[in-house]
Amino acid sequence: MADILLFADTPSAYEELACAARALGGNPVALYAGPRSGAEQITGYGANVLYFGEIPAGAIPEDAAVAYAEAIKRAGAPLVLSRASKRDALMAGRIGIRCDMPVLNDVSAVSVDGDTVQVEHMVFGGAAKRTELVGGGAIVILAAGTFPPEEVTAVGDITDQPEKVEAGPVKLVGTEEKQEETVDLSSAQYVICVGRGIGSAENVEKAKQIAHKLGGEVACTRPIAEGEGWLARSRYLGVSGATVKPQVYIGIGVSGQVQHTVGMDDSAFVVSINKDKNAPLMKHCDVGIVMDADTALDVLGTL
Ligand SMILES: Cc1cc2nc3c(=O)[nH]c(=O)nc-3n(C[C@H](O)[C@H](O)[C@H](O)COP(=O)(O)OP(=O)(O)OC[C@H]3O[C@@H](n4cnc5c(N)ncnc54)[C@H](O)[C@@H]3O)c2cc1C
Repeated sequence: MADILLFADTPSAYEELACAARALGGNPVALYAGPRSGAEQITGYGANVLYFGEIPAGAIPEDAAVAYAEAIKRAGAPLVLSRASKRDALMAGRIGIRCDMPVLNDVSAVSVDGDTVQVEHMVFGGAAKRTELVGGGAIVILAAGTFPPEEVTAVGDITDQPEKVEAGPVKLVGTEEKQEETVDLSSAQYVICVGRGIGSAENVEKAKQIAHKLGGEVACTRPIAEGEGWLARSRYLGVSGATVKPQVYIGIGVSGQVQHTVGMDDSAFVVSINKDKNAPLMKHCDVGIVMDADTALDVLGTL
C-alpha cells in the first residue's frame, strides 16, 4: 500500500483524512506539529504520524509548512490530502510552492494511479463539475464530508522527524478565543436547513430546537449567515460553505439556487417546504410541501 500524506490544523481533522486515504487504497501518514498529545490522538485514527515537535512560541501554525514540505519531498508520495479550512488552504499554498506541486481545491472525488492524480471539483460557482488529471503528484483539498469517518481499530506509530518548526517573519503576538460558534455538519444525519423564507430569528431558533429534537443540526443558506447573521457562517451550505450528506434534509424557505444545492446534493432524502411551488428546490426534492414557514414550524414542533 502506498503512503498518502495528510496535514490539517487540528488533530481531530485527521480522522476524515485518514479514512479518505484508506478509502483510496493508501496508507495514511499524518504530518503533524503541535502538542505530543495531538500526535497520540491522530494515531487513534489508524494513521502513522511523522511528528515535528511543538510549534515554538512566536511562530504561527503555518510555519510548519517548511518542515512538512521537506518530509513530503523525502517521501516522494504523489498524493497529499488536506481539507477545506482557511488555515489548511494557506498551508497548502506554502507547501505547494516548496514542493512544486499543484494545489487542487474543493475536491469532491479523487483517485490516484501511479503519480497521476484525478480529481473532480466544482467550477462556475457550482454550476458545473470539472475533472482534472495531474501528473507528478498533487496536494488535494477535500470538500467537507467527501469521505465520512468510519470506525477504525488500528493504531498508528509516531516517528520523530529531524526537522523542527521554526518561526518565520510573521510573529504571533497573541491569541484570542473566537467568539463565533464553529460546527461540523458533515456527520449530521438530520439537517433542517433554513432559508430567507424562514422570516425571523425566532423562527430560526424554533428550527434549531426541532433539529436537536431529531438528533440533528440546523443549517442555512448563505444570506441567513452572511446577511441576516441569524446563524454562524459555519452553518451555511453550498459552494462557498459546508457540504452535508444526511439521511434527511428538510429545507424551509430555501429557494434552491445551485450555489446552495451543491452543498446538499448528496442528501439521501430531501424535503422542501416553500410557499412557492415553483421554487427550484421543489424540483430538486423527494417531497415538496407548499406551506408557509410559520405553519411548517408549528407542525414540525408537534412531532
Ligand atoms: C459566488 C456565489 C457563491 C454563493 N455561495 C453560496 C453558498 O455557498 N450557499 C448558499 O446558500 N448560497 C450561496 N450563494 C447565494 C445563492 O446564489 C442564493 O442567493 C442563496 O442560496 C439564496 O438563499 P435563500 O434560498 O435563503 O433565499 P432566496 O433565494 O431569497 O429564497 C427564499 C425562499 O423562501 C421562500 N419563502 C419566502 N417566504 C416564505 C414563507 N413565509 N414560507 C415559506 N417559504 C417562503 C421563497 O419562495 C423563496 O423560494 C452564492 C452566490 C454567489 C454569487
